[in-house]
Amino acid sequence: MTRPKRQLNPLWQCPKCGEKFTTPNQQHSCGKFSLEPLFARSEPHVFGIYKKFAGMVQACGPVTIIPQKTRITFQARMRFVSLYPHKAHLLGGFVFARRLEHPRFHKIETFSPRSHLHHFRLDSEDDLDSDFEAWIAEAYAVGEQKHLE
Ligand SMILES: [Zn+2]
Repeated sequence: MTRPKRQLNPLWQCPKCGEKFTTPNQQHSCGKFSLEPLFARSEPHVFGIYKKFAGMVQACGPVTIIPQKTRITFQARMRFVSLYPHKAHLLGGFVFARRLEHPRFHKIETFSPRSHLHHFRLDSEDDLDSDFEAWIAEAYAVGEQKHLE
């Protein structure tokens, strides 16, 4: 006997800015931020790292890129990774459905048995290697809520 698939609730869409959320009336920045000011105090290579990262995410499938006050968030159905631009590097965090101990993750926060935030740091485009490509794909699948099916 097969277990029925868990039904996913429809997304709530903010009537003002069109952002989509899994929680109705979710508090958010309501589309008032743009990408450029987030990198205003960063060295040019930081935007290069961001662009490479964004391209690797977009290679996984459709994604909404949401600039917020201090970070850029990537959303499939759910938000699955954020990037925080700094002067000479980016900080970020992947949401995985498992805990993954790895030297590249300097901190792991566990929110629930299927939700773990893995903090990482990117100093150059070379940091976006094949390990990262696999992790982006893993986080994207969480963003699609494949782990709930
Ligand atoms: Zn809104």
